Amino acid sequence: MVAGPVAPGSGWPGDPADPGTPVARNPAEVRELAAGAASLAELTARQSVCRACPRLVRWREEVAAVRRRSFRDEQYWGRPVPGWGERAPAVLIVGLAPAAHGGNRTGRIFTGDRSGDFLFASLYRSGLASQPASVSAADGQRLIGARMVATVRCAPPGNKPTPGERDACVPWLSAELRMVAASLRVIVCLGGFAWQALWQVLEGAGYAPPRPRPAFAHGAEARLRSAAGADMLLIGCYHPSQQNTFTGRVTENMLDAIFARARGYAVGPVDLTGSRRSISSTSPAASSSLILRSRTKRDDRKSS
Ligand code: SF4
Repeated sequence: MVAGPVAPGSGWPGDPADPGTPVARNPAEVRELAAGAASLAELTARQSVCRACPRLVRWREEVAAVRRRSFRDEQYWGRPVPGWGERAPAVLIVGLAPAAHGGNRTGRIFTGDRSGDFLFASLYRSGLASQPASVSAADGQRLIGARMVATVRCAPPGNKPTPGERDACVPWLSAELRMVAASLRVIVCLGGFAWQALWQVLEGAGYAPPRPRPAFAHGAEARLRSAAGADMLLIGCYHPSQQNTFTGRVTENMLDAIFARARGYAVGPVDLTGSRRSISSTSPAASSSLILRSRTKRDDRKSS
């Protein structure tokens, strides 16, 4: 068992990088490498080896070396957590940052922590994930018609990145958004930090945001139009943090309502018992995978 971060290309499930992947060592290099990535695969590889924020690099690697007592026999990922999910998503889920012993341990966003337990259970009920739990990068979990990203890709101390770290990481998200914009219909923004950070990203990706910008709230919505003229819906959602779920600020029903709304907007009204009523235009890849999930739920019921 190796203490400390995983070496790129050393066999970690889903590791997008290899030893030759270029490393950004300052914000200017983040901008350059994000803008120069030729594909989503190349972009996520570059994200996953970034070292542009000294404080966050120190923290993520220290956590990976020391480890929590309950995970002391596990290898930690200890690197930036790249975007994950479908390459042509209809729904993009944007969070704050990986948790020190969650995404920073498993290498996959919202995987292996309590927030993720709550979130993935809801995504599964809503037809956006293939399994109700997400525990490791090798668990076979899949997002369906969806993709998941963090605003800041490294675990920050106290879950609080600085404004400078947020700004340094923005080009990774901007580039990812541009690459999936053609299929995208909905962005679900988990928490006020991601909501605030996203406006700059959206403008950089060619979306015209409303003026004035709507304030963050659970269920807040804003409609945006891409440079190509496509409509996109932005939905605010309270972050499913342990504090929010324990205190009842976020409940299962509240989360389910957000993802039902997102899924319904992305593919048109959908009967989750299996009879799809109407499908609006969206990318064939995204809509077909969402429809497939709906059929799978129906088939599950038939066989039970
Ligand atoms: S937070 Fe973003 S920009 Fe900073 S080191 Fe991590 S991946 Fe790089």
